[in-house]
Amino acid sequence: MGVPTLGCPCAVCHSADPHDRRLRPSVLLRWKENTKADAGGERVVVIDTGPDFREQALRARITHVDAVFYTHAHADHIMGMDDLRPLSFIAERRGGPIPLYTDAEATKVLEQVFAYTFSPDSTYPTRARVRLAPLPDRQPVGGVEFVRIPLWHGEQPIAGFRFGGAAYLTDVSAIPEASFALLDGVEVLVLSALRRSPHPSHSTVEQSVAWARRIGARQTWFTHIAHDLGHAETNRTLPENMQLAYDGLSVPVTL
Ligand SMILES: [Zn+2]
Ligand SMILES: [Zn+2]
Repeated sequence: MGVPTLGCPCAVCHSADPHDRRLRPSVLLRWKENTKADAGGERVVVIDTGPDFREQALRARITHVDAVFYTHAHADHIMGMDDLRPLSFIAERRGGPIPLYTDAEATKVLEQVFAYTFSPDSTYPTRARVRLAPLPDRQPVGGVEFVRIPLWHGEQPIAGFRFGGAAYLTDVSAIPEASFALLDGVEVLVLSALRRSPHPSHSTVEQSVAWARRIGARQTWFTHIAHDLGHAETNRTLPENMQLAYDGLSVPVTL
């Protein structure tokens, strides 16, 4: 919902700490790919384009996007898709539409929500130059392999992603046993932890801490945090290598 949450009188929603202002969750990956054709070329991948994507892209000074991966197609993860338009015009001039890697379920929702973009009958001339691409188990982008990590979000199967020594798992309520093997050796983990009280489709802080211990990353960052959790006070209760992430946090990872 973002924090402050609309209409909420609680202390976190009225906190003066900038760490307590939370836009909808998303991750940006930036690296240099050294190829002969394009020495030092910067590669940019975004995971999820929520309703706040434009503000986040401005803050991160994104000037192009090579690919987008979607975890699932709930509003807080997809509604900024249309703001890819100006970046997609740049991508088209560089060689083609931006690939949006999504599973079959999310593809169906994106096609409905953004029918004016994806319908073959669309007559909207300045629609985003993007293409829906099926999400495979492993998808290389600019020399980096993105490994799909199957997860549960309530009753819905969704995707997490591993890239090199890092993984991004959001909106998780259960991690299938086989997915732990795919997370072996992860050094930096980003994992959702909504709040302390149970929720039908999100893990609690306690559950996420237990998974983080099992996965054993050097550092775990919790994300997708509701207004129940104040930044400073929650972090004081967490192990030093498991902390709440915050908007704008930048972390080096090995790809
Ligand atoms: Zn609140
Ligand atoms: Zn979500």
